[in-house]
Amino acid sequence: MANNTVEIIQDSLHALLDDKTFLPDLKGEAREKAFTSLVSILSTPNHVNKSFLRIALKNGSVVRIPSFRVQHNNILGPYKGGIRFHETVSEDEVVNLASLMTLKNALHEVPFGGGKGGVVINPRDFGDKDLYLICKKYVQYFSDILGPDKDIPAPDVGTSAREMDWMMGEYKSIRPGESYRGSFTGKSVENGGSLGRREATGKGVYYTFRYLLYNFVNEQEKWLSERENIFAKTALSLKEKSLSLAVQGFGNVGSVAALAAYQCNHLNNKIVAVSDRNVTLYNSDGLDISNLVKFVTDQNGDLPTTEEQLKHADVKATIMDRDKVLTADVDVLFLAALENQIHRENMKEIKSPIIVEGANAPVTTEADDFLSEKGVIIIPDILANAGGVIVSYFEWLQGRETQFYSEEEVISKLYEKMQVTFDTVLPQFFGDPFPLRQNCYIHAVMKLSTILYRQGKLY
Ligand code: GLU
Repeated sequence: MANNTVEIIQDSLHALLDDKTFLPDLKGEAREKAFTSLVSILSTPNHVNKSFLRIALKNGSVVRIPSFRVQHNNILGPYKGGIRFHETVSEDEVVNLASLMTLKNALHEVPFGGGKGGVVINPRDFGDKDLYLICKKYVQYFSDILGPDKDIPAPDVGTSAREMDWMMGEYKSIRPGESYRGSFTGKSVENGGSLGRREATGKGVYYTFRYLLYNFVNEQEKWLSERENIFAKTALSLKEKSLSLAVQGFGNVGSVAALAAYQCNHLNNKIVAVSDRNVTLYNSDGLDISNLVKFVTDQNGDLPTTEEQLKHADVKATIMDRDKVLTADVDVLFLAALENQIHRENMKEIKSPIIVEGANAPVTTEADDFLSEKGVIIIPDILANAGGVIVSYFEWLQGRETQFYSEEEVISKLYEKMQVTFDTVLPQFFGDPFPLRQNCYIHAVMKLSTILYRQGKLY
């Protein structure tokens, strides 16, 4: 696990065990022992499963592809988390991402544990037939440890409903007669997926930002203005301003979050920069996100990279280097690409007072500390991007009941659930000048520790 995750878990436990109202029956030496047990339980995965998938490619060659399924923790329920297809996937990364799933689910009261999968490939290098084989093999190799009540994968970077459909199909063949609908989530609607699942992460990311800055800050303005809290000052300084937004990443999370922001006309905000793996597009008067989404959908996923393509998309923008989006002079920066995007080398150039983590772990600890000290509000991944797993949970439930909800129902249930979490963490965040990440971890760790204690696993 990345050092920062372990460190934050430790700090959260320290804060909790110093609080007399937390597990009051645990006193003295027993309390100290509990601390050590909790650190080791929460900072170590239960299982790290690794295989080298043997695949006979369409071109005739046979390759071995490293792949992982990490099961971090099932204190709250079956392991749950996506499967990532990316060429930089490593064991450490998957372990860290699995631990973030444990914390994310605990924070939002989703009755699942944390898991994550990874396959070390660039999916763009493979044809559909080969990708289909890779998905089938993945399930064959890991089928013993997967299942609707054991470990439930979902899409992540590089995978989508198509891969989940293939994987569930294989799972069903391997285990005839067993229940299979809840074995994978993020499937296509035709194949038992949930309406609204594809958009859930992006919509949830935008909703988190909107709720914090508008609902919460508007309602609590007086209370906030009386507080000596640097983050409250940051939030209040943005109130009633027409804001400029930048979005890094224009995939399933970034494009949906950008579109949600674009469609919120009444707030008068502008999205001035968006980026993907090739370019940043910039326009200080605001970009036409609706046309960009249309272009990307029609053209296989990439933003326009030439003047001609911009014309074709009917979008006015300046084409810039890919990483320019990060240092744009904006009020809000949404990070919806990969991890470690803001780090030692670029942290001093970041200008936005609010950063929203749509991706998992996009800000390194060093950059996080540096920016938080300056009063930058970083809305952490486990708070902001939980929409995907929350709607995965609804999908799993719908599969069990074989009763399906309308898209409106799904999205309103999603917002309702996220709101409960916001109302738990935000008052504390703006009350004590603690970074929001730390607050979220404290709540998640409190939930996990209490359950471990109640189940008699700490003594
Ligand atoms: N991959 C997504 C995440 O990181 C969704 C996981 C899920 O739905 O299980 O939260």
